[in-house]
Amino acid sequence: MAEAVIKVRGLRKRYGELEAVRGIDLRIERGEVFALLGPNGAGKTTTVEILEGHRSRTAGEVSVLGFDPGRNEVALKERTGIVLQHTGLEPYLTVSETVDMFRGFYPRPLPLDEVLEVVGLEEQRDQRVRRLSGGQQRRLDVAVGLAGDPELLFLDEPTTGFDPTARRGAWAMIRSLRELGKTVLLTTHYLDEAQALADRVAIMVRGEIVAEDTPAGLVAADPDAVIRFRAPRGTALPDGLGLREADEGLIEARTADPTRDLNALTSWALAEGIELEDLTVSRLSLEDVFLRLTDEGDGEVGS
Ligand code: ATP
Repeated sequence: MAEAVIKVRGLRKRYGELEAVRGIDLRIERGEVFALLGPNGAGKTTTVEILEGHRSRTAGEVSVLGFDPGRNEVALKERTGIVLQHTGLEPYLTVSETVDMFRGFYPRPLPLDEVLEVVGLEEQRDQRVRRLSGGQQRRLDVAVGLAGDPELLFLDEPTTGFDPTARRGAWAMIRSLRELGKTVLLTTHYLDEAQALADRVAIMVRGEIVAEDTPAGLVAADPDAVIRFRAPRGTALPDGLGLREADEGLIEARTADPTRDLNALTSWALAEGIELEDLTVSRLSLEDVFLRLTDEGDGEVGS
């Protein structure tokens, strides 16, 4: 069996009346990119911060690289890297100076050139932090997390606010971390990101893990298909197919029998003289599965 870098059993966290994490189990293997997903308030940050050693737990067993993060041991901190959503870096230092400063905190740092190469900031090495674009600053945040050559990296929403090109760049960067053999625990609100990057994902809802698998496994576990098309606003849709407006003008329905339902739909459209624009039938995306699993309530944990 592969080596577990993170082992969690029966983890609970209570804030007064509110139980934010309700007895979760997790096992993350060395070299995995693992994504923790869930709606706002599901308990992801609480869980990750307990693993990082930044928050205490109410109950349960937690082992990170063989350590209990609750004991705040330096030997564990030297082997983990944390990239938070908002890192305040010194604006007047250059990229190299910033990375070097953090390298100085660790006994066996990653060589500067290697850090800059992994995050794709070689060309900006002499640029001051305040002159970096938002996406480049985020790369520098990751560079700082990598400076100590950690075995395990916590990446909290690494591409929030990125344009599509910067996001692809960040994905390439996370893939190169995997090639370096790093274990990555990623939190993200972008399902396509989890689908593209994660070896496995866990979906958290109301303090519990409701699904855990590879992205492909989660999608395959749901045999349904989705029919989508566009129709002019106000079109009277046929009953019995579960059609609903998903987005502006986009109509969709889940179906366990796409052949039959498509036949019914196209027969109706032909009879009514309606053109079904952009008609597609597809397997569920990870986002569809996520929305189904998190559908009950808004995901905010209750007490
Ligand atoms: P998001 O996606 O919005 O970041 P999350 O899944 O990370 O959400 P958490 O931040 O872990 O969720 O919060 C879980 C629940 O615990 C929420 O209801 C939140 O209000 C509550 N909570 C978080 N931190 C505290 C705290 N320090 N004191 C009291 N309640 C808290």
